[in-house]
Amino acid sequence: MVFNSWLTERIHQIKDQNLYRELTVMTSGPAPKVTINSQNQLVFSSNNYLGLAADERIIAASRSAAKVMGIGSSGSRLTTGSNIWHQRLEEKIASFKQTEAALLFSSGYLANIGVLSSLAEKGDVILSDELNHASIIDGCRLSKAKTVIYKHVHLKDLETKLKETQKFNKRFVVTDGVFSMDGNIAPLDQIISLAKAYNAFVIVDDAHGTGVLGANGRGICEYFGVQPDVLIGTLSKALGAEGGFVAGSYILKNFLLNHARSFIFQTALPPCICAASVKAFSIIEEDKRRRESLVAKSTFIRTRLRELGYEVKGTVTPIIPIIIGGTKEALNFSKRLRQYGIFAPAIRPPTVQEGESRIRLTVTAEHSYEDINQLIEAFKLLSTNDEVTK
Ligand SMILES: *Cc1c(COP(=O)(O)O)cnc(C)c1O
Repeated sequence: MVFNSWLTERIHQIKDQNLYRELTVMTSGPAPKVTINSQNQLVFSSNNYLGLAADERIIAASRSAAKVMGIGSSGSRLTTGSNIWHQRLEEKIASFKQTEAALLFSSGYLANIGVLSSLAEKGDVILSDELNHASIIDGCRLSKAKTVIYKHVHLKDLETKLKETQKFNKRFVVTDGVFSMDGNIAPLDQIISLAKAYNAFVIVDDAHGTGVLGANGRGICEYFGVQPDVLIGTLSKALGAEGGFVAGSYILKNFLLNHARSFIFQTALPPCICAASVKAFSIIEEDKRRRESLVAKSTFIRTRLRELGYEVKGTVTPIIPIIIGGTKEALNFSKRLRQYGIFAPAIRPPTVQEGESRIRLTVTAEHSYEDINQLIEAFKLLSTNDEVTK
């Protein structure tokens, strides 16, 4: 077999299924208005929810840290890579999340696989929501524990599965806080009480809740007034920076630092990116308005698009999925949006289930109502076009 012909054949297969993916190269920084192939586009698909990714104060904080500490951290945290900025950021995360301690990972993805593969051992079971993020799925795959999938946010099904798995050693329930492709919130208060009743531990991935949910933006735990055994998050969404973290007890931090392979065998985050996150947390703590405007804008968009007859998912989060159905139709819809100057890619299997392809809109605090009206106008024009909406 010729290597390249095998690759070509596989590429043809995904193209036939409308599942081919390619890169879009932006020639401008993170903002609602960007340039793609010399065309101006309004981006409604970024995770830069609070508009902090290009904030001048954060750039300045990062620059001054880089001047002193350099760019690369030059080692893993357990060898020569740990410095004062990792320590400051971990303290900041712990205080923001109101936990004893926090441990940084190089990304949310690595935090998820590190946590699940080290905490869940042979003889254990992980109960995982069917719509959990790919990094949770991969963490389950890397773990030697058995994985049992429960129906999406379905407490009855979770309870049934908790009952059926009593013979296992340790039991973990793992869930996204905000589901990244559906924009809905896991009923964490009820999940935690249920898990407690059956002696199971709870792991929550608050990638999309951090900086967004709760009266002070502390995330899903503040929103429900609860604390899981393990809280995972990312610094690459509302914080506008890069990196992942686990927040919890000192002993949990110590355990992960000694057992999580994606922590141990990874070069530490660059100090300047940690300085950026420290500043981003401070801004979030001081500035409520960004978060409030985000809720107002996402509510406005949901209401308007529902009025136009679209199937819109989710609640108060800035993730606004519009269900289209087929992969081809979703791709076509996204293409038509681009012709109207709106950039929002189609989300297809395996990211979402077959027949549930969608346009995943997100809104940020930086979008103006003029931008939003342009978005609504494009959807209005497309809703009267039978060819696109089937
Ligand atoms: C984005 C995301 C991650 C991954 O975080 P990164 O820091 O980008 O690696 C993990 N979990 C969920 C739910 C996410 O949406």
